[in-house]
Amino acid sequence: MSFPKLKEAVESWAIEDHFTFSVVKKDVKRVDSRCRARAMGCPWRVFASTMMEGELQVMKISSSHTCIAAPVAAREVANTQNWLRRTVPQHLFVTKATKPMEIVETIPIHYGEKVNYEAARLTNAALIADRVEHQREHFHQIPSYLQLLHQHNEGLYTDLHTTAEVNGHQIFQRLFICPWQSRESFQSMRKLMAIDGTFLKA
Ligand SMILES: [Zn+2]
Repeated sequence: MSFPKLKEAVESWAIEDHFTFSVVKKDVKRVDSRCRARAMGCPWRVFASTMMEGELQVMKISSSHTCIAAPVAAREVANTQNWLRRTVPQHLFVTKATKPMEIVETIPIHYGEKVNYEAARLTNAALIADRVEHQREHFHQIPSYLQLLHQHNEGLYTDLHTTAEVNGHQIFQRLFICPWQSRESFQSMRKLMAIDGTFLKA
């Protein structure tokens, strides 16, 4: 286990069980998380320490709370970027058109937690940027994908169209892929004319 993975696990636990925790001690070797209500005697605790081999191991878990009836502080975890960026995509397909309010409205439905607008706005912007970056990576793979296709399909015909952008990047337009079998069989097809209709848009 790593420090970030443990943090994610404890955050998810806090959200699911509706409590807040704070890290009371953290250094390169150990991390100690306690329930926020520990001052009132709540024993909930997750303590992890790095072993000789460098592996982080959870040494102590006190999983029960005595703070259930105690007044609950504002849920901070639900407003952390780390948790939101991990959680929002599980419930919402974020596109350029997604508004921060959708995040503000979605999270309480699933977790009963309030998300402030600013946290939602930051998450939304980050997820949109991620998506664009992600798509760019995928489009970058098209040439090597075509190369692979050609290697394994003799006689394959492909036609990739891109347009050059000002800053040197290429923009994908369309891709045509035709296996030789389709080309061959097309030669012996009966001639036919197909007429289809479409809507006219002003
Ligand atoms: Zn507690």
